[in-house]
Amino acid sequence: MENIQIGSITVDVVRKDIKNMHLAVYPPQGRVRLSAPRTTDSEVLRLFAISKLGWIKKQVKSFKEQPRETPRQYVSGESHYFQGKRFLLEIIETDKQQFVELKGTKKILIHCKKNSSKEKRSILLKEWYREQLKKQVPELIKKWEKKIGVKSEEWRVKQMKTKWGACNIEVKRIWLNLELAKKPPICLEYIIAHELVHLLERNHNDRFVAYLDEYMSKWRLYRDELNSLPIAHSDWGY
Ligand SMILES: [Zn+2]
Repeated sequence: MENIQIGSITVDVVRKDIKNMHLAVYPPQGRVRLSAPRTTDSEVLRLFAISKLGWIKKQVKSFKEQPRETPRQYVSGESHYFQGKRFLLEIIETDKQQFVELKGTKKILIHCKKNSSKEKRSILLKEWYREQLKKQVPELIKKWEKKIGVKSEEWRVKQMKTKWGACNIEVKRIWLNLELAKKPPICLEYIIAHELVHLLERNHNDRFVAYLDEYMSKWRLYRDELNSLPIAHSDWGY
């Protein structure tokens, strides 16, 4: 992708059929994007970006100050999120089968061996998130395939560092970030709709946005919600 480097700031340039330049900074990391007419000289773009440097820096800073999860310790009393709600963790020692369960509306219990490591507990919880997410997804995919009029071949869940979802158009495979198990269900729904729309349009262009507007008119709200939530310890670049 075409880009402009100003000191430590990279400005991605997206050429479009537009008349005026448009600058935007996106959460969560403060990615800077300049939409520009197809024919505008790159030196003109560079000067434009430089003239807006103060504004860019302010935006980037405000995103960097967003709440972020601290590394989890997997001990009793610690907050963990599931489907957008906060739960308190409770560690229960067992010498039998290890498993994770919800207790009421406030607690996630991890039944694990005495002296189990932080890593072991995190794996147990992660596998539980995966199971829960896999229960949510099939119905949502069905719903949105019908609405959008496309058909995916398969979907998979994986932990991703930079994206909430992805779509391999050639084989019609949808990838969903495991972290979505922690987010409000509507956010998961948005990502599913978004990835399915890629089966109609590969790129995030005007046509893509028009499809989203048509099928999920409030998608911007869900996207912003996803991006404003405390993000996991690793940074997302979505
Ligand atoms: Zn996309």
